[in-house]
Amino acid sequence: MTKTVDVAIIGGGIMGCSTAFQLAKRGVNVAVIEKNSIGAGPTGHSSAIIRQHYSNELTARMALYGLRVFQNFEEDVGGECGYTATGFLALIANADASGLEMNIALQQSVGIDASILSTDALKEMMPSLASTDLIKAAYEPESGYADPYLTVNAYAQAARRHGAAFLLDTKVTGVRFADGKVVGVDTTAGAVDAPIIINATGAWAAETAALADISLPITSSRVQVSLFRRPAGEEKAHPVIADFIHALYFRSETGGLTLVGLIDPAEADAIVDPDNFGKGVSDDFVLESGERLIKRYPAMELSQSTGGYASLYAITPDWHPIIDELPAGSGFYTCSGFSGHGFKLSPAVGLMMADLVMKVEEPLFDAKMFRYGRFADNDPITSKYEYSIVG
Ligand SMILES: Cc1cc2nc3c(=O)[nH]c(=O)nc-3n(C[C@H](O)[C@H](O)[C@H](O)COP(=O)(O)OP(=O)(O)OC[C@H]3O[C@@H](n4cnc5c(N)ncnc54)[C@H](O)[C@@H]3O)c2cc1C
Repeated sequence: MTKTVDVAIIGGGIMGCSTAFQLAKRGVNVAVIEKNSIGAGPTGHSSAIIRQHYSNELTARMALYGLRVFQNFEEDVGGECGYTATGFLALIANADASGLEMNIALQQSVGIDASILSTDALKEMMPSLASTDLIKAAYEPESGYADPYLTVNAYAQAARRHGAAFLLDTKVTGVRFADGKVVGVDTTAGAVDAPIIINATGAWAAETAALADISLPITSSRVQVSLFRRPAGEEKAHPVIADFIHALYFRSETGGLTLVGLIDPAEADAIVDPDNFGKGVSDDFVLESGERLIKRYPAMELSQSTGGYASLYAITPDWHPIIDELPAGSGFYTCSGFSGHGFKLSPAVGLMMADLVMKVEEPLFDAKMFRYGRFADNDPITSKYEYSIVG
């Protein structure tokens, strides 16, 4: 039997669930259609770092909004998100020093608690960090990380409490239009009719858009994460560190572990089939990430590798999402392509999407910057650093 809703969201990752929560809270009849289970895609494997370090006012404001939600999660959403405030350090090369200063000024101007640390202050904060090659570092005391699986499931539960329906193990196989407007989707469990459809399928977004004859510049790229057990004397949790000099990030993980990933634009090149890629970590990656880690955190020479895993980034040409109605006036919306940094923005994205589809006149977060047309207009979103992933 055909199900009829006001809004059908394709994808039960963090963007689909956060958007469903925001819409259901306003009394909108929403269904989330997920081909697997909630958070089973890249969301569940996210490093879930919550930092405010962004180069654009909009993304900085969105990150701050997200931080406040993670800090008050039980009250704002309900349930647990596992927010852990360890502080965040950005370590920048000499060439990027002026970018760092501009970023900090921007963050402070929107109310973010961020400041520049001298190398002496850095040494005092984390004596085991190698810092002789550093000129300056940025520090955010309130930043840290969350548990992505807990978070996405808490959002789904909260949306359910407000009446949202979840169709799990259900794949969208077609998108139907009539007179240029979307009217529904076909799924492996029957038809769902809706005048508004949101494509929140992340690394599958281009495949989903193709069902509607839309071409999206979003790739599905394989990324890896490794884990190391910290040696005796280093048991205490350390801040989240983004080391742009060695192009890696690392944060504490439960069980005395340190989780390591790369901040490397070349990660975009590992394009894979999102339904068929190697989910294990390679020995080469463990070695490479471990070597970079030791350069910044020499005590980890004595650490023990405890493996890792691979997942997917959904990457756009400028490493920022596409949030837009395509084609204009069709009711078919894209909310995908978060390029490896979407988790922390997800509370704000849910609000942005709900305001966008409900045509709120003065939204807190205007989606215009993320419009699809920016690529054709040669107006990509730029970062103050060469590392676009910082946003
Ligand atoms: C290893 C790793 C580390 C990361 N670290 C961070 C970090 O530290 N901080 C940060 O802010 N961000 C981080 N990110 C990025 C962040 O996790 C993502 O931007 C975010 O999770 C994307 O969520 P999403 O909802 O867009 O997509 P997804 O989680 O990919 O969800 C899309 C869903 O759509 C479903 N789907 C696909 N096709 C269909 C279909 N046809 N029908 C029905 N369902 C379908 C999929 O099964 C999937 O569940 C990281 C990502 C990874 C992979």
